[in-house]
Amino acid sequence: MNLLDTFSAQQIPSFYLDADQKQLQAIIREAKASLGDQLLLLAHHYQKDEVVDFADEVGDSLQLAQLAAKNKTAEHIVFCGVHFMAETADMLTEQNQHVYLPDPHAGCSMADMADPHQLQTAWDTLDTIYPNEIMPITYVNSSAAIKAFVGRHGGAIVTSSNAEKVLKWAFTQKKRIFFLPDQHLGRNTAYHLGIPLEQMALWDQGANRLRAKETEKIRVILWNGWCSVHQQFTVDQIDKLRKNDPDIKVIVHPECPFEVVQAADDSGSTNKIMNAVKNSPKDTHWAVGTDHNLVTRMKARLPQKISLINPVACACLTMNRIRLPHLAWTLDSLANNRPLQPVTVDQKTTGDALRALDKMLALS
Ligand code: SF4
Repeated sequence: MNLLDTFSAQQIPSFYLDADQKQLQAIIREAKASLGDQLLLLAHHYQKDEVVDFADEVGDSLQLAQLAAKNKTAEHIVFCGVHFMAETADMLTEQNQHVYLPDPHAGCSMADMADPHQLQTAWDTLDTIYPNEIMPITYVNSSAAIKAFVGRHGGAIVTSSNAEKVLKWAFTQKKRIFFLPDQHLGRNTAYHLGIPLEQMALWDQGANRLRAKETEKIRVILWNGWCSVHQQFTVDQIDKLRKNDPDIKVIVHPECPFEVVQAADDSGSTNKIMNAVKNSPKDTHWAVGTDHNLVTRMKARLPQKISLINPVACACLTMNRIRLPHLAWTLDSLANNRPLQPVTVDQKTTGDALRALDKMLALS
């Protein structure tokens, strides 16, 4: 069943939408108690506080998928995140374990920017320009179909924490890298490895062409994708913060545009950001550029230490689709044997995608 079928098959009953916060929290608590260790409830760092409060584990996408893979007891894994994360968890878990996304509309706009048909067309064209010279690499924020394509072509998956390591390996295998779907993570990582911008070019999937004059010197081909959340940070905002507080330290996620990462003091995955702030001296002031839900949660715990780079930035809209009514509906249905449609990836896609995922895990 694809995502669209899932939409029509599953409609949240109005009872949950009409219930107040206390009722929903009571339903969730009761369902959790009744399911016991049959349930593993995972939440991404970018989820709302109301959801995170009930999670068994909170983490980034790969950490959560690995936790799901490690757990052999829970029959039901409820993944409060977005669709590609639930797919990855399904691929890493056993056949008798089912992964549920509380709102099937929770996709990822960046993952959706890479379509497997467009990728095949791009690959065919690029292979005529650079025969047998390209290694495909995809960010974990991509669909199972894209991961499977990469696995079939000998490539690997990356996260924001291990992208450098995987890219270094990829360059020992092939002369050039085709990086999907986030152009910013690809560009920022390659630049950090010493590859100049002139040796990178954007693949224009709409026009099916490489935006490069001298194709021979291109070593990194970037899919033209981006994250709408991390596009909201600018150099101007950072400059203003530094003007008001010259000692402020700026740390951003590498999904931010190149100029923003260059203007910051540091960049890294959500875990790196959280650890940098936690382990810094008490009087360090930080301005943090990543999802609003996470940064406001950090600020609530450490109000003196944290500033928001863009206080009016929107949190990730798709992550925010999961709220108490969806969580209550999902857990209540599972506790009362009213089966919901799990997120599933077919065996062939899983097998190919796992080749790329295993490569990354072996390198990490
Ligand atoms: S924050 Fe960006 S990359 Fe992450 S789920 Fe939202 S749209 Fe996708």
